[in-house]
Amino acid sequence: MEQSKHRKVIIIGAGPAGLSAAIYAARADLQPLVISGMSLYGQVSLTTTIENYPGFPNGINGPDLGSLFEEQARKFGSEIVFDVVQSLDLCAKPFKVVLSDVEYTADAIILAMGAEARKLNVPGENEYVGRGISYCATCDGWFFKDKNIHVVGGGDSAIEEALFLTRFARSVTVIHRRDALRAGAILENRARNHPKVKFIWDTVVKEIRGNGSVHELLVESVKTGAQEIIPTDGIFIFIGHDPNIGIIAGQLKMTAQGTVAVDDRLQTSIPGVFAAGDITDAHFRQVVTSAGMGAAAAISAVSYLETLD
Ligand code: NAP
Repeated sequence: MEQSKHRKVIIIGAGPAGLSAAIYAARADLQPLVISGMSLYGQVSLTTTIENYPGFPNGINGPDLGSLFEEQARKFGSEIVFDVVQSLDLCAKPFKVVLSDVEYTADAIILAMGAEARKLNVPGENEYVGRGISYCATCDGWFFKDKNIHVVGGGDSAIEEALFLTRFARSVTVIHRRDALRAGAILENRARNHPKVKFIWDTVVKEIRGNGSVHELLVESVKTGAQEIIPTDGIFIFIGHDPNIGIIAGQLKMTAQGTVAVDDRLQTSIPGVFAAGDITDAHFRQVVTSAGMGAAAAISAVSYLETLD
């Protein structure tokens, strides 16, 4: 292992939050180091077309937007390394970030490791992502105009997104593994009273099948074990998100939703450690909100570093 190198600020994660933080930190002349982890551009890299990011009225594909973020971050002096953080020590200052074969210390850290949509882990799921399977109604609902689609999950996200999808789809059928929703009463009432929303209770999806794109689901009753094939034009899976918090486990205060707790300056429970994007956001999870949080976290980090001088 090389001798440790020191940076004023290290940003962990290279999605919209991390790269926006990098743009702001670089423009404050901090020469930030961004560590991308396994997933350069984060969930953006999995999105075919982003039509709701301001400035792109004709939409832009996810990897292209990520690459523009990267170009802009590098232009102002950010260094981006494609490496995975092996360990992060926030207990003592300077903070210590250990990569595969180099160790860094930093005065401030911005955590932007994002979150991953939970998967069903059934046959066909990996194969048809982006071809009839989606984890984001705001991103992909538009592509299901007049289609008959299915939503999996019974929480607030599933019901809220099912209602959102009624703007486009002909019908939205929610498949839930129990006979009662986890979602709050207001959303539940709205969904139950919506003419386009139907429910299939006590049922799990066992397989997603298609021929180029999704066209049917193999489902199973959890009560009787009976299996059935349901035709569908698409399936949206909302069974929760898991923030990528492995490297900070036990080091920071968390919220009840399992995200990193931050104050109104996006500072975590440890001064000098900031968080932005899906790792601290259980509600919005949009490219534009993550980018905004990244910018805000960097501005806070700059102010924090000024107090150390
Ligand atoms: P969630 O509340 O954890 O709900 C996940 C849902 O997916 C549950 O209904 C769960 O079933 C189901 N599920 C989990 N694993 C499954 C599997 N393997 N197969 C089938 N179904 C599965 O997650 P969320 O809906 O994403 O919400 C996350 C947090 O954000 C919550 O605190 C929520 O209140 C909040 N939120 C709030 C709003 C709002 O206020 N408008 C909107 C979105 C999210 P069970 O019910 O059987 O466990």
